[in-house]
Amino acid sequence: MTSKREWSLGEFEIGKPLGRGKFGRVYLAREVKSKFIVALKLIYKAQIEKYQLHHQLRREMEIQTSLRHPNILRLYGWFHDNDRVFLILEYAHGGELYKKLKKQGYLTENQAATYIASLAQALAYCHEKHVIHRDIKPENLLLDHEGRLKIADFGWSVQSRSKRHTMCGTLDYLAPEMVEHKAHDYAVDNWTLGVLCYEFLYGVPPFEAESQSDTFRRIMKVDLNFPPVPQVSSEAKDLICQLLVRDPSKRLSLQKIMDHPWIIENANPKGICS
Ligand code: ATP
Ligand code: MG
Repeated sequence: MTSKREWSLGEFEIGKPLGRGKFGRVYLAREVKSKFIVALKLIYKAQIEKYQLHHQLRREMEIQTSLRHPNILRLYGWFHDNDRVFLILEYAHGGELYKKLKKQGYLTENQAATYIASLAQALAYCHEKHVIHRDIKPENLLLDHEGRLKIADFGWSVQSRSKRHTMCGTLDYLAPEMVEHKAHDYAVDNWTLGVLCYEFLYGVPPFEAESQSDTFRRIMKVDLNFPPVPQVSSEAKDLICQLLVRDPSKRLSLQKIMDHPWIIENANPKGICS
């Protein structure tokens, strides 16, 4: 699947639609010769032009093809015709983690810890390569056939050694330094892990509010409450409290997340859970 450089639509059989994003659709597909199953993400060039996303798309593609990690969705290659760009992606048979979360209401501590550990490992790998994802949210986390978490959608990620100033990402998952338009770095992904860990265990993100300005305020104050139901262990709350820290330099490092007692006790070391 990876050795060849030039692909075309004729080499794929297109199957059922898997989902739709802002700029196109994703289909199940099979490469005719090898019978290799993939997900084909189709993006209309008109949309890319309209929103001037050439640079962002190219960056997304280059970053994602260069990453090789069991918890990062592979991008095998891409091609285009007159009006569309096609991304050849690893197929995530388990679909969106978001759907699982909504269906269950909230995750078990074993599931939550397994996903947080997988995310910490994938992000440690990204950070080593100087990539900050910045758009980690449940909709962009997919599951493979074994239930292993895969980070997808590198649309907002950046490859950088210097601090970033641009505003991006979904509000609920934004770190205080991003809300304030201050310079930010890798520690934004660590904040997001705290938000996700909370959302996995309680079913709602921690700073949810009626209006955007209220969410802003709650993030800035780090207005964090732990409701009595569902019941969550004090070790899990301890990890969340050590990630949702206003000062980025005081947030728990990715290595310390992986070594945290809650993770050690609850995460499946193989990264697989039902
Ligand atoms: P957005 O920017 O709004 O997140 P997008 O245009 O980047 O959307 P994706 O998030 O990549 O699009 O894909 C849209 C949906 O299609 C996903 O939420 C998921 O449900 C499904 N999907 C995408 N890629 C795959 C894949 N590799 N395997 C299985 N399903 C996928
Ligand atoms: Mg998406």
